Amino acid sequence: MALFKEKKKGFLATLFSTFADESDTELLDELEERLVMADAGAELAERVTNELRGYSGLWGDKMKKALVDELVKEMEKAGTEGLRLNTKPSVIVMVGVNGVGKTTTIGKLAAYFKGQGKKVLLAAADTFRAAASEQLAIWAERTGVEIIKHGEGGDPGAVVFDSCNAAKARGTDVIIVDTAGRLHNKQNLMNELTKITRIIHRELPDADCEVLLVLDATTGQNGLLQAEQFAKAAGVTGIVLTKLDGTAKGGVVFAIADRLGVPVKLVGVGEGVDDLRPFNAREFAEAMVE
Ligand code: GDP
Ligand code: MG
Repeated sequence: MALFKEKKKGFLATLFSTFADESDTELLDELEERLVMADAGAELAERVTNELRGYSGLWGDKMKKALVDELVKEMEKAGTEGLRLNTKPSVIVMVGVNGVGKTTTIGKLAAYFKGQGKKVLLAAADTFRAAASEQLAIWAERTGVEIIKHGEGGDPGAVVFDSCNAAKARGTDVIIVDTAGRLHNKQNLMNELTKITRIIHRELPDADCEVLLVLDATTGQNGLLQAEQFAKAAGVTGIVLTKLDGTAKGGVVFAIADRLGVPVKLVGVGEGVDDLRPFNAREFAEAMVE
């Protein structure tokens, strides 16, 4: 499936037409600059271009192919696995700051699993804002899946505990846990996430558990610092990069692989229920140059 509904030009695409008659030195200088501007990170940009400088006489399509290979190699350093959900039940915990797209991604995933005939249970563990459980309840209704929610200000740990036990009793295939993106202070939030994952491992010791950190692609490099904090506290197993439809700066994908060492597993390409894609490094790199 194509990454986007409408084909956009990748941020590296015009490079090859603009520099068709120039020396490859100029093309590679410009490439390095564009990678930095697209949030790929200065170190990675330098590494990739230096690698390409090592080949002599690469032109046009061959250069493009070599570039795609280098970008794929960079992303593969962080691993290439997709979601690992082989147990029944298995669990997905969605973490990340407010507004990045956690709840929306949960809705998309619920619809996807439901479409595969799976039994899904949503756990409304973002109890910090009343609107949060309401928003999740709307997704549950829209996609026709079950939800466990407590009142506002309730203990998120209790929601997760109840959800694990309900899943055991009901034969649920996938539990998807929504979490708060902000609490009174950052340490509280990190403690809460640690507690949530601890309860899951205690109640469902044999379950596959994906902790997905949701990052908004439009925030570029700014998102990375918070990402590092979450990765530490919650034991993140994968990244969901949302709002790729809203930016030409997809280069942050490379920086994520480089800085966090965690694979991007899914990408969000719109607000609709179908706008979620499995991440494929080669497809992504090719879309950058086409
Ligand atoms: P949360 O606070 O992390 O739960 O974020 P929400 O799920 O409430 O999403 C915040 C906003 O981002 C909403 O307006 C969503 O419709 C929007 N959103 C989420 N994912 C995407 C995406 O992939 N593309 C676009 N364009 N918007 C998105
Ligand atoms: Mg939310």
